[in-house]
Amino acid sequence: MPVAGGIVLSVSGMTSIKDIDRREGLAVVEPGVVLGDLHAAVEKEGWFYPPDPNSLVGCALGGNVAENAGGPRAFKYGVTREYVLGLEAFLIGGQRIQAGRRTRKGVTGYDVTGLLVGSEGTLAVFGDITLELIPKPPAVMTLMALFDSVHQTGRAVGEIVEAGLVPRCIELLDSGTLQAMRDAGNALDPRAGAMLLMEVDGDERACEEQAERISDACDKVGVLELLVAQDAAQRDRLWAARREMSPAVRRLARHKLSEDVVVPRQKVGELLDRVARASERTKVHSLAYGHAGDGNLHVNFLWNDESELASVDAAIEQLFRDVIELGGTLSGEHGIGVLKAPYLPLEQSAELISLQRDIKRAFDPSGLLNPGKIFPSGGHGAC
Ligand SMILES: Cc1cc2nc3c(=O)[nH]c(=O)nc-3n(C[C@H](O)[C@H](O)[C@H](O)COP(=O)(O)OP(=O)(O)OC[C@H]3O[C@@H](n4cnc5c(N)ncnc54)[C@H](O)[C@@H]3O)c2cc1C
Repeated sequence: MPVAGGIVLSVSGMTSIKDIDRREGLAVVEPGVVLGDLHAAVEKEGWFYPPDPNSLVGCALGGNVAENAGGPRAFKYGVTREYVLGLEAFLIGGQRIQAGRRTRKGVTGYDVTGLLVGSEGTLAVFGDITLELIPKPPAVMTLMALFDSVHQTGRAVGEIVEAGLVPRCIELLDSGTLQAMRDAGNALDPRAGAMLLMEVDGDERACEEQAERISDACDKVGVLELLVAQDAAQRDRLWAARREMSPAVRRLARHKLSEDVVVPRQKVGELLDRVARASERTKVHSLAYGHAGDGNLHVNFLWNDESELASVDAAIEQLFRDVIELGGTLSGEHGIGVLKAPYLPLEQSAELISLQRDIKRAFDPSGLLNPGKIFPSGGHGAC
């Protein structure tokens, strides 16, 4: 988004998967490769690239690297940064640098690759991206559990983690989101006030054992209904409903703003209580879903009329203050961009922000790359 005007550079024509090296377990891709296409290509070779933002049918690897994208599978496998071994990057003066490596290990100099991942297009333009792959898990099992409330889901997640289980996904949907899904035609138990969508992987027997232990953990906290997908089609239907959720929620009001925040996973219930109280006070409708295992929630604010904007802003600021008070962070996967820039000082000290500005100046002295992102030109005001 060229918020300061200027030139938009599109890399969407750079769609070549240049190499899938099965002996080294890595892939080299151009930045315009659509993530879903990479998944399909490496899985055909028996390999696996875990990061899976829910936008995977349309988002591209350049954007994933620039945003350090995560996704449901991050609970077990981590986020994009864990898989970027090397980056070809073009600096604003036209110089080409090759940061990183093609090997799994490597500690030469500063970790410039790590710095570029998540830089939101403000430091350099990525060319070829070298990604680590892992062997494709032979089997996957999906479970859906319905509960009375988000507090029970929090307790269930606690039980699962305490039992030493690491499902690859633990997705949470709150009552407002379930209602949006019902409105979109999904038949869901009317008693349910929260859902966990979980997935385990490994060999077949390991999946069955993990599913059994997860089911025990859910029983302990009083699950209403637990469904284990019996085949790939049922599994796809469960995930399609999850991926459709953002558009389903979008239909509820004329305007929707999805905030992406993280709190320690045991504080998810408390954060959602605070959000509900703020919604009551400000009269702004909100609902939440997200990656419960990581404590990463997408709190959605919905409104119809421009006159409600001041209340929406108040609700958002309250959310950010609550997140920081609960020991969380302002973004788990969408980055700071334009909208969150004024709130950065809530989380980071003036010294830390100033150090990051110095890094930006070293890469881009005239501030030409993605101006207005992370560091607004007016500086960070007090919140
Ligand atoms: C429906 C939906 C669901 C989503 N779910 C998730 C989720 O589960 N997890 C998650 O982490 N995110 C999620 N996202 C956001 C996600 O971060 C983006 O979809 C994705 O990572 C960005 O890729 P893109 O191709 O859309 O990038 P764009 O939006 O095109 O670009 C994003 C940023 O990257 C920069 N950029 C792009 N290419 C380059 C390049 N070659 N060099 C340097 N900078 C570049 C751009 O300048 C821009 O600042 C979701 C988004 C949507 C719309």
